[in-house]
Amino acid sequence: MTYQEAAERAFGKAVSFDPQILRSYDHDLGEMPRPLMALIQHRPHTVVVARSAADVATALSLAERYDVPVTPRGQASAGYGGAIPSRGGMVLDLSNCNRILAVDADKNTVDVEPGVVWEDLSRALAPHGLDNRVCPTSAPSSTVGGWFAMGGVGIGSLRYGSIRDSVLEIDVAGLDGTIRTLAGADMEPFHQTCGGLGVITRLRLACRPAGAILPLAVRLPDAAAATRFLETLETSPAVYSASLVNAGYCALRAEAEGHVPAIASGFLVSLALFESQADTAEIARLAAACGGELLDDAVAAMEWEGRYYPMRIKKIGPSALVGEFIVPLQGFVATAAALTAALPGDCFGLEAFAVCGGKLAVLVYILDDAKTLLYPLRMAKAMIPLRLAIRHGGAPYATGMWFSALARTIYGQDKYKRIARLKTAQDSRDLLNPGTISGPWLPFLPFINLSRCILWATACLAPLAARLPCARRRASKHPGATS
Ligand SMILES: Cc1cc2nc3c(=O)[nH]c(=O)nc-3n(C[C@H](O)[C@H](O)[C@H](O)COP(=O)(O)OP(=O)(O)OC[C@H]3O[C@@H](n4cnc5c(N)ncnc54)[C@H](O)[C@@H]3O)c2cc1C
Repeated sequence: MTYQEAAERAFGKAVSFDPQILRSYDHDLGEMPRPLMALIQHRPHTVVVARSAADVATALSLAERYDVPVTPRGQASAGYGGAIPSRGGMVLDLSNCNRILAVDADKNTVDVEPGVVWEDLSRALAPHGLDNRVCPTSAPSSTVGGWFAMGGVGIGSLRYGSIRDSVLEIDVAGLDGTIRTLAGADMEPFHQTCGGLGVITRLRLACRPAGAILPLAVRLPDAAAATRFLETLETSPAVYSASLVNAGYCALRAEAEGHVPAIASGFLVSLALFESQADTAEIARLAAACGGELLDDAVAAMEWEGRYYPMRIKKIGPSALVGEFIVPLQGFVATAAALTAALPGDCFGLEAFAVCGGKLAVLVYILDDAKTLLYPLRMAKAMIPLRLAIRHGGAPYATGMWFSALARTIYGQDKYKRIARLKTAQDSRDLLNPGTISGPWLPFLPFINLSRCILWATACLAPLAARLPCARRRASKHPGATS
C-alpha cells in the first residue's frame, strides 16, 4: 500500500493532499521573507486534522512506517517557525483535539486535550469557580499544547511563573504510536522542544480560584523607577499580574486607535490585583516611593481590557519586527538605554511581563512593511534587542525553528544533553518536527544549518539595518522612547 492510500484509509476526510489546503499550512504568524522560506521545504505534502489522541498515535505510526517528517501544529501563532515544516512531510493539525476532559474542583486541576484555546478554557472553568493561572496574550486563539511545547510566560507570570510551572502531567505520543504519561523530571524535556520529542495529547493543568480582578495603572518616570516598583510587587500576594509598556508603545497604540496616548513619557505599569485582597492605597504608596503615580481608573480598565491585543500597533506598520528576550530586572535599565541608543529614529514600542524570580520577558516591536524591497535587510533589526539584552544578563526567549541554533543557551547544557540523548534514542531519523532541536538543514546543502546562518547574517547586518529608517505606512508624530 502506498503512503497516500494508507493515510486515506486511516483518516478519510481528515487527511488532505489538496495544494490549496497545503499552502495554508506552510507558514505561521511570523512574516519571513520569501527567499528565506524558499531555502526550506516549508510546504507539507500532507495535512492530517487529528480529533483524538488515537488519531495522533495513528498519524505518528504512519509517519514512522513511511519515513515522513511530522510537524505538530496548534494555531501557528508562535511566529518562531516551530509550526512550519522544514522538510515537507505531514502537518499534524491539533486544533480539533479541543475537548476539556475533566475538571477537579477539589484539587484545582483540569485535564485538557492540546488544542484547547486558552480563552475557551477560562470560560469553561468559570462555572467550577476556577480560572487559568497563566495564559499568553494570544489567549483568544492559541492552544494549551502549543504554549507548553513552545514555552513562555504571560499574564499571571508574576504570581505563577511560566506555563511549565502550571503543567502537572502530560500524555505524549511517540513515533512507535504509544502514548506515555509523564510528570516531573520525565516531563521536562517535552517543555519548549516544539514537539521534537513527541506530540502532546493531554495536559493536566493547575488552576487558580476564580475571582474578580481589579486593574490598576501606574506611571513611572523612567526604567530605573519602573524596575524598583516591579521589585516591590513580587512580595505582594494581592498582585496577580504586572506588565509594562514604554511611552513609545503608548504613542503607537494611540496612533493606531486614534486617541491620546495614556502617557507621554516614562513607563506605564499595568497591574491586575485579586480584588478580594487589593489595597489601592498601598499600591499608590509603593508607586510614590518610586517616584510614580497612580493613573486614572479608565486607563487601568483600558489596559486590562486590551490585554489580549498587543499587536494593535501593527496595523500602522503594517508589519512589525519583534525582538524578544528575557532579562533579569537588574539588567533592564541598561538594556532599555542601549535600545534607545541602538534604534535611533525608529518607532519602536516596548512591552514586558514581570515574571516571578525577578525577571522580565520583553518584546520590542519595530514597525515595518514586509512588502518593501529592503525588508529582508531591515529584519536584522529584530535581533538587536536580544544582542543588547545578552550583554546585560538577558537570554533568548524560545527556539522554534528560527532560533534552534540557540537551543543550548535556552535549555541550558544539562537539559540540552538530555534532549539530544532522547532524540537520538527515539527519533534517529529526525522525523519529529525536524529543524527544531537541531537544524534546520538546507535541503541541497544538508551540512548547513539555516538557523545558524540567520543568526550570523543578522549579526553582520544589524549595524547597517539599524541605520535604515523603518518603512511605515504612515509617519508617526510620536517617536519611540524608553524614558
Ligand atoms: C498576539 C500574540 C500574542 C502573544 N502573546 C504571547 C505571550 O504573552 N506569551 C508567550 O509566551 N507567547 C505569546 N505569543 C506567542 C504564541 O502565541 C504562543 O507561543 C502560543 O501559545 C503558541 O500556541 P499555538 O497554539 O499557536 O502553537 P503553535 O504556534 O501552533 O505551535 C508552537 C510550537 O509547538 C508545537 N506544538 C503545537 N502543538 C503541539 C503539541 N500538541 N505537541 C507537541 N508540539 C506541539 C508546534 O510544532 C510549534 O513548534 C503571542 C503571539 C501572538 C501572535
